[in-house]
Amino acid sequence: MSEIKKITDAIIKFRDDRDWEQFHNSKDLAVALNIEAGELLELFLWRGAEEAEPEKVKEELADVFNYAFLIAEKYGFDIEQIILEKLKTNATKYPSDKAKGTAKKYTEL
Ligand SMILES: [Mg+2]
Repeated sequence: MSEIKKITDAIIKFRDDRDWEQFHNSKDLAVALNIEAGELLELFLWRGAEEAEPEKVKEELADVFNYAFLIAEKYGFDIEQIILEKLKTNATKYPSDKAKGTAKKYTEL
């Protein structure tokens, strides 16, 4: 069993042990993911980039991942496949010979 499948199964077990699937429609999962991303962002508010506490960053990042996994599961997406496909797409948009060392958007390369 892949590590991604093990993680997904653990998240689903956590959800099902609490009978929370009834609340987990795709819209509310996306909202929750963004709220957790906001909590991650808040750790950096009014601070320098290196001043956020790593332990708190770890917790909020895990919350973001949990909701991302739940959304992927809801749509039946293969997480490894969709990440690798998107990397391939991004590699086309940002060819290394043009994008290396620059933060320009692909439309400006
Ligand atoms: Mg959180």
